[in-house]
Parts: sequence; C-alpha cells; structure tokens
Amino acid sequence: MTDTYAVFGNPINHSKSPYIHRHFAEQTGEPIAYTKQQVPEGEFEPAAETFFAQGGKGLNVTVPFKLDAYRYAARLTPRARRAGAVNTLALEPDGTVLGDNTDGIGMVNDMHNLGWELAGKRVLILGAGGAVRGILPPLMEQKPASLTIANRTLHKAEQLAKGFADLGAITPAGFESLEGQQFDLVINGTSASLGGDLPPLPESLLAPGACCYDLMYGAEPTVFLQWAEAHGAEKRADGLGMLVGQAAESFYLWRQIRPEVIPVITELRRKLSAKKGA
Ligand code: NDP
Repeated sequence: MTDTYAVFGNPINHSKSPYIHRHFAEQTGEPIAYTKQQVPEGEFEPAAETFFAQGGKGLNVTVPFKLDAYRYAARLTPRARRAGAVNTLALEPDGTVLGDNTDGIGMVNDMHNLGWELAGKRVLILGAGGAVRGILPPLMEQKPASLTIANRTLHKAEQLAKGFADLGAITPAGFESLEGQQFDLVINGTSASLGGDLPPLPESLLAPGACCYDLMYGAEPTVFLQWAEAHGAEKRADGLGMLVGQAAESFYLWRQIRPEVIPVITELRRKLSAKKGA
C-alpha cells in the first residue's frame, strides 16, 4: 500500500522536496507518494487536519509555517523543542503527530560528507533567525572550540546565546566587533544573500584553511561564497546538501531507512547548472 506524504508551504511552486523524496523512494523501494501543497497563510492547522484525516502519514513544512507546525505537533523531539520550529511532522502508530526539526542535522551531515571537521574548530555563525536556531543544537553536539553568533540586531544574538547556554558557551557579537578575530568555519545563516547583500565582514576574518558554508544555495556561488573565495577560504559549500540532508532525515523518521544523499545532491546540482546554461 502506498503511503502519502506532502510538503506544505507558501509559496511552494519551486519546492524541490517532491523531487528529492521521489528519488529516495525509488532508491529504497519504499512505496510512498509525495506531493506539494500551497496552503493559504493562517490556514495551516485545518490543512494539516484534513491531510492526516485523509490518511496522510507525514508532512514537510517550510516557510512560513514552521512555527505553526511546532504548535500543531502533539509531541516534539528534543531538537525541535530547542529549535522552536518544526519542519517535519510524522503520524505515530498511536495516531498522534510528532514534530521534528531536521534542518540542523541535515547541515551537520552535509559537512561530514564534505569531509569538514567541526570538533575543536572556532565557529562563527552570521545571523540569528529561525534557521540558526535549528542548526545550533546539532552543531554544539560536535564540540567546536568556540561558537560566536554575529547578528545585525545584536539583542537577537544575545537571546540565542542565553537560550542555548546549557549546550555550551556561545559568544554574541555585532559585525563590527569581529574585527581582529579569526575563525576556522564561518556559516552564513542570514537571508542577506537572497537580496544579493553581504553582512559587513572584516578582511582578515578567515583563519588559514578556513571553511565557509552558506545555508542559501543557487546555480551560481552566493555573494557570501564569492566573498569567501576572494578572502582565501580553502573550502566552500552552499546549502543544497543541507536541503537534501534534512529531507533524508525526514525520510528516516517516516520510513526508518536512511537514503543515500550524494546521488540526489549530484543530480540536483546538475539540474541547477543546466538551468543556468539554458
Ligand atoms: P530569518 O528571517 O528567520 O532570519 C534572517 C536573518 O538574516 C536574521 O538574523 C537577519 O538579521 C539577517 N539579515 C537579513 N538581511 C540582512 C542583511 N541585509 N544584512 C545582515 N543580516 C541580515 O530567516 P531564516 O533563518 O529562516 O533563513 C535564513 C537563510 O537560511 C535563508 O537564506 C534561507 O533560505 C536559508 N535556509 C536554508 C535551508 C536549507 O535547507 N539549505 C533551510 C532553512 C533556511 P536581523 O535579526 O538583524 O533582522
């Protein structure tokens, strides 16, 4: 029997999730159907109710509904509770709906696949929004030497540092106070790239051999990754692997099988490049 899954968002047209999950289903032989649904703002709850009432087994949830999904879930995984946001809902055997957040583990797994070491590294995160909340718990589990969060609005970085203090020391910062500091890994979690903007970063921010990761992805290197290349970053990656990684963890939660991410990342990258050339 085919089980039904979907992604809810608004807008949803460009979502790559149906493609990714169809790939996973073919790869693993799991009998699933996966669709996308544009949900009007303010109507997440009735839409989710209807989906599960009609036999749906699980949902992915994207902008702007991650907070609605957090409120909707009857139970939460510890990492979803910490993140304050849910990107995956799973129908449990007892009929309740479990909320999880797989964004952070998707990013950490991608860095492992890239061969990047996180333990003992000086890590800087740019931004203090929803995505950064999601990546903090799995990132802290990797035991970096230090973690700094720099944000345009300083008090949001301070709030995160305070809220996650039990996971380890986090230093909040404004961009100007990064002057004179160096980091081994810099993660861009701002949405500045979307508008082609870059936070103001000191010239000497990157330590020798530094890695730079942008949560955003695209056919071309993002402005942050262009900056990273110009400033001597040894390794650079965008968030396409994170997107596939979070999907793989959702699939695992639903089907208890972890699909291979590399062939799907490779295929999506090929499609993105082909679009650029078209
Ligand atoms: P939020 O709106 O929650 O947070 C935006 C953050 O960006 C805030 O810290 C904000 O600072 C900062 N910011 C926005 N514009 C600028 C600017 N011009 N200069 C400096 N800082 C700026 O967004 P999300 O956390 O949901 O998303 C962040 C990024 O992560 C997006 O690009 C999104 O596409 C990406 N993402 C990728 C995923 C993947 O799977 N690859 C998954 C989830 C997100 P302030 O607080 O001062 O406003």
